[in-house]
Amino acid sequence: MTSLLEDIIKDKIRDNGPMTIGQFMELALGHPEHGYYMKQDPFGRSGDFVTAPEVSQLFGEMIGAWVADVWLQMGQPEKLIVLECGPGRGTLMADILRATKNVQGFHDAINVHLLEMSPTLKVKQAEVLSEYEPCWHEKLEDVPGGAPMVVIGNEFLDALPFQQFVRTKDGDEPRMIALNEKGDLTFVPEKGEVSESSAERERFAQDVSERLKVQGGAALFIDYGHMKSGLGDTFQAIKGHEYVDVLSNIGDADLTSHVDFQALTPCAGVEVCGPVMQGVFLKALGIEMRAAMLKSKSTSLQAEMVEKGLHRLVDSDQMGSLFKVIGFYNSYDTDLKPAGFF
Ligand code: SAH
Repeated sequence: MTSLLEDIIKDKIRDNGPMTIGQFMELALGHPEHGYYMKQDPFGRSGDFVTAPEVSQLFGEMIGAWVADVWLQMGQPEKLIVLECGPGRGTLMADILRATKNVQGFHDAINVHLLEMSPTLKVKQAEVLSEYEPCWHEKLEDVPGGAPMVVIGNEFLDALPFQQFVRTKDGDEPRMIALNEKGDLTFVPEKGEVSESSAERERFAQDVSERLKVQGGAALFIDYGHMKSGLGDTFQAIKGHEYVDVLSNIGDADLTSHVDFQALTPCAGVEVCGPVMQGVFLKALGIEMRAAMLKSKSTSLQAEMVEKGLHRLVDSDQMGSLFKVIGFYNSYDTDLKPAGFF
């Protein structure tokens, strides 16, 4: 069955010729009416995929400790902008805020800002975070300056568009989406070794680091991907916890690719920490101790859940190795060294 969005995309290709993967992704995820993120809540057991904050509260508690530690290391600035990029259901931010409630002075110092394009998810976030009065923005440049900031993004960068290139005898050609004789969507060229890059993700990392350079602070991005740039096709679509064909289910499946962490570099004057594997990062922050403490205060059923969540987040055959963490920080004024990396 073809979707309305598929027809819109086919019409565009008929009118303008083949489109890049980046253009396709932007429409499939962000079309104002039919885009995947614009019309539904994709998370959780009943949704299409489960993210780390939805796996266990331990994840947000560790990130909360990381954020509060940055603030403490900076000498407890009077104001701190805490910005989350792509907050999904708001679970991560809610856990960060709950976990830092007892850090004296921290909640008085922070203003919560959210970068989000989905109207549906904004409603969810507003429900979960109402007591913290967050401000929403659709673009990084709309987030106010004038104070140091901490930026968080879990599975945000992978949702930004990327491009593929195919090695041919005449050099690297962009891999495009076109129509075949039957009028179905198809990749051109079809054969050859594939490489990927994402100007959007790289620009976003640069733009965030520019802000840190001016305002001070640190950023943390967590995503699945590779430490070093390499060849390979990682374009994927997920629907109902299953991989599906990337050119089908348009607007009803999440589209992503692996993030190339080596390509994420800060601007001059801002330092980088990592990338490290998520399991290594979370263990360095003390996730095992926190899990043990939670378990000691729970029923056996709850303790089992805590243990399961812990393993899902840190084990190498689960999210622990595939997911990487990278940080950017401005150490110029404050000798800041974000936790978990050193
Ligand atoms: N961080 C959440 C959700 C990850 S899914 C979690 O870990 O559960 C990606 C999130 O980024 C969604 O909230 C989606 O609506 C948002 N998003 C994707 N592309 C975006 C863009 N270009 N601008 C702002 N938000 C975007």
